[in-house]
Amino acid sequence: MNRSTSEQLYQEALQHIVGGVNSPSRSFKAVGGGAPVFMKRGSGAHFWDEDGNKYIDYLAAYGPIITGHAHPHITAAITEAAENGILYGTPTRLEIKLAKMLKEAIPSMDKVRFVNSGTEAVMTTIRVARAYTKRSKIVKFAGCYHGHSDLVLVAAGSGPSTLGIPDSAGVPQSIAQEVITVPFNDLEALREALDKWGEEVAAVMVEPIVGNFGMVMPKPGFLEGLCKLTHDNGSLVIYDEVITAFRFHYGSTQTYAGLDNHEDIIPDLTALGKIIGGGLPIGAYGGRKHVMEQVAPLGPAYQAGTMAGNPASISAGIACLEVLRGEGVYEEMERLAIRLVDGLQASAARHGIPLTINRIRGAFSTHFCDHPITDYEEAQDTDGEMFASFFRHMLDRGINLAPSKYEAWFLTTEHTDEDIDATLEAAEDSFRAMSA
Ligand code: PLP
Repeated sequence: MNRSTSEQLYQEALQHIVGGVNSPSRSFKAVGGGAPVFMKRGSGAHFWDEDGNKYIDYLAAYGPIITGHAHPHITAAITEAAENGILYGTPTRLEIKLAKMLKEAIPSMDKVRFVNSGTEAVMTTIRVARAYTKRSKIVKFAGCYHGHSDLVLVAAGSGPSTLGIPDSAGVPQSIAQEVITVPFNDLEALREALDKWGEEVAAVMVEPIVGNFGMVMPKPGFLEGLCKLTHDNGSLVIYDEVITAFRFHYGSTQTYAGLDNHEDIIPDLTALGKIIGGGLPIGAYGGRKHVMEQVAPLGPAYQAGTMAGNPASISAGIACLEVLRGEGVYEEMERLAIRLVDGLQASAARHGIPLTINRIRGAFSTHFCDHPITDYEEAQDTDGEMFASFFRHMLDRGINLAPSKYEAWFLTTEHTDEDIDATLEAAEDSFRAMSA
């Protein structure tokens, strides 16, 4: 496959844009380096790059594009918004409509505030929790990603009962000291951390279904135990549902069937992003009324945004949710995902390649290993070189995956059986080449 134009554009981008990319996850650093593909056009489940090569897309822009590229209903909504003026700096009727849709789908959110990204949403939930509890530390889980604000760019110290270390240059040690990191799915570690630091802990923050070291379900009772331990400690539970909300059904993890008793896993605050903007920049946070009333102009916790709630993002979000509300939408994504996962697994087995796949409805992650993936340590203990090889073989056969062994594959409402057939054919060729 000729990608010479992408290579040229990458060289040019390197001159002007740091690292040639506007988000590090877009670089190919984790899959052996080189030029990322410069895409030019997307339609439905497909992409065309600057050299005219066609790809089937499973990246879905890291999650928001659940209705595929340039969905006509969303495009019409954005066009109408643009024609009416894209930014007012005043409240609008549209914001109320999307807020009501979110509240109906996620009943733990009595009140909502729109922001511009998942990072902002998470960052603000922490501020609100700190304002409400008048405590400063937070507990997070290893391998969960919560955006790039200082507090959540902190990795585990040397054990669950130690404080964190900065995960990025520029995050002061003093901030890392405010964060305790424990393994996902490990209630004992959480208990130990709360025993030691409990009186200082404002909130326990979690991706209730993990999307950032593969797709990982909480073990039965984990969320229930997390909520109980946290609330007994006088701390707030924050769910980061930036990836998970509207991903598996029309709602969020809190309301997803198959988890613990729903009334026992209700968070105090929820952070949202990605899907709820239909592909335009958005974030939102919400929660219990008296917690949210900490936020300015009602309360002392300040948070603001020039672009927040802009009519274009809000319109795209409403349109996206309208599509997702359609009959059988999630069932169809799941049907295709099952076909794809079964086929990938069979194909890998035919070529003697160890492959663990974690699938939750229309989203799944592929791990080159022969053990289950239930926490970050297990996700790290997989063959990154094999993933890189698979990624490149698939790309050369027109399949666009995320360039990282930790990221998920996302089905969209626009994938078809033909796409699955073509993907499985590419995978069979790739596994054959890898095992040769
Ligand atoms: N939280 C989770 C769970 C995410 O996966 C992400 C991004 O991937 C974020 C927060 C940050 O969102 P954004 O990239 O919109 O700032």
